Parts: sequence; structure tokens; C-alpha cells
Amino acid sequence: MLKRKKYVFDTANLQFLQHRRNLTQKLVRFSLFFGASVVLALFYGFIFQRLVGSPKQELLEQRVDEMKLKYALLEKKIDYSTAAVADLRSADNSSYRAILDLPLIPEDISEGGAGGTFKFGDLSGYLNTDLMMSVRSKFEDLKTQTNIQYNSLNELKEKAAEWKEMWAHLPYIRPVNVTMKLGDGMKFRDIHPVWGSPKWHFGQDFRCPIGTEVHATGAGTVYFAGNENDGFGNKVVIDHGYGYRTIYGHLSKCNVKRGDKITRGDFIGLSGNTGTSTGPHLHYQIDLFGEHVNPLWYFEDSLTEEEYFQMLDYLTKP
Ligand SMILES: [Zn+2]
Repeated sequence: MLKRKKYVFDTANLQFLQHRRNLTQKLVRFSLFFGASVVLALFYGFIFQRLVGSPKQELLEQRVDEMKLKYALLEKKIDYSTAAVADLRSADNSSYRAILDLPLIPEDISEGGAGGTFKFGDLSGYLNTDLMMSVRSKFEDLKTQTNIQYNSLNELKEKAAEWKEMWAHLPYIRPVNVTMKLGDGMKFRDIHPVWGSPKWHFGQDFRCPIGTEVHATGAGTVYFAGNENDGFGNKVVIDHGYGYRTIYGHLSKCNVKRGDKITRGDFIGLSGNTGTSTGPHLHYQIDLFGEHVNPLWYFEDSLTEEEYFQMLDYLTKP
């Protein structure tokens, strides 16, 4: 740029003289010019930034969008897992826990949801606090529900083992492998076949030839084996635990002795006609905590439906 010269009129000499600025004037002029430039630059910069945004800001905004996407995906995965745990809980409640007689798990377990936000104080004060808290709250719920499910399955495992043990001990089969003939069930007899006086019959009689193999109907320990002169002749009494005892009477031979450990199906003796008996048969009795229970309730699965109702019929007829 051409430097323009500036002239001033000298009134004393009546002529134009070239004007020369001193150093101070030059400095002031420069400062003013520089200051104005800076202000203008800042102003343009500000406008540009407002309209377009700086590259750094743009990058940060991209990152925020990325994070939001990641949070959304995470939330979806948590929702999916929560649904899977809910399915598991539902199956657990409707089958296993119900069958094993355990209390049901409540359907609405919410740890982070209600009143949960105040617990996530470290997440407050951010632009996306709501999003972060919502995901964290769902995650906490999932964590709680997974823990509960884990504990429930462990409980089921233990309970199932207990039940398996109990099932092995309870008297759930027939003591003799004979086709069920109508025997004397649990009923009141006006005239006892031997005593001639009214007497209750507590048990189930199986008519079978002398020497028929008698088997333990559940696991346990032999409580008594021999003859006590109580009318049962030679008898075996097995203690199964859980309050159960079974009695096998009128045997011709006992094959076990007191204290023997027994598993279901073990051969414990031979049927006979000893004691107060009118003919060869096995007297089979189940006591629960000292009370006599109907053996028919315990092995109906080994009877045909017809046999079962025939038995019940027989029992209820006078
Ligand atoms: Zn009997």
C-alpha cells in the first residue's frame, strides 16, 4: 500500500509543509490500530464460533453422541437381561419353589428404582445425569435380581437334595411283590377274626403264601426284629426318620437285626402266619409320629386305578 503523505499549512510562511509524526504519536496510533484489530478479531471469532462451533467442540459433541448411543445400547442389554432373569424367576416360582414348598420370590424387586436416585449422588450435576442415573438404576435392579435368583437356585439345590433324601426314606412301595388281593385294610372291625371282640385294624394286610419275600418300603434303620408276643408274631419294625415307622407282621422269618441300615427294597424277611393270624398274610403298618396312617395312601402309584378304588370301596363298606 502506498504510504500517503500528510501536509499541514504553515501560516507563518504561507506554505504547505510535510507533516512528520513524532514517536509518541506513532505509538498511540499503532496501539489504537492494534487494539481495534484485536477487538474485531474477537468479535468475528465469537460470531463464527456461535454459528459453526470450534473443531474441538465439534469433536466433543461427537463424543457425547457416541456415549449416548453406548448408554442406549447398554440400557437395551440390561433390559434384555432383566427380562431373562424375570423369566427364570417366573419358572422358579411356578414350578420349583411351588413344588418344593418354598416361599415365592416377589415379582417386583426394585433396588435402584424407587428412591434410588439419591443413592447415585456421584452422577448428579451433569448434562446427562438423568440418562446415567436411569441406566445405573436399571443395572442395580438387575444386580439385585440376579443375586436373589442365584441364592434361590442354591436354596433349591439344597432343598432338592433334602427332598431326594426324604423320598429315599419314606415308605413308598409295596412290601411284597404280589398282585394285590383284597386284604384287610385300615378299618374298624366289629368282630375281630381271632379275638371275637370289636377292634380297630391299623394297617394293610397282603394275602400271600408263607415264605413270600418281604421288602423294606423305604430307607431307614431296623428298630426291632423278633417276637414281642403282641399279636404280630415275628415282626420287623423299621425307623425311617421324619416321624415314620413301618411294621411288617406275622413273618415266618426275620432276615435283619436291630440297628441294621436298610435301603428301600432290601429283603428283610419272609411272610408267614405267626402271632394272632387266621391265615398266611403280611400285616403291613405305617405309623407317623406314633399315629397309624393308611398304607394305601403311600403306594397308590403301584396300584392300578381299578385296584385302588376297589380297595377304598372295600374299606368304606361296613
Ligand atoms: Zn393286619
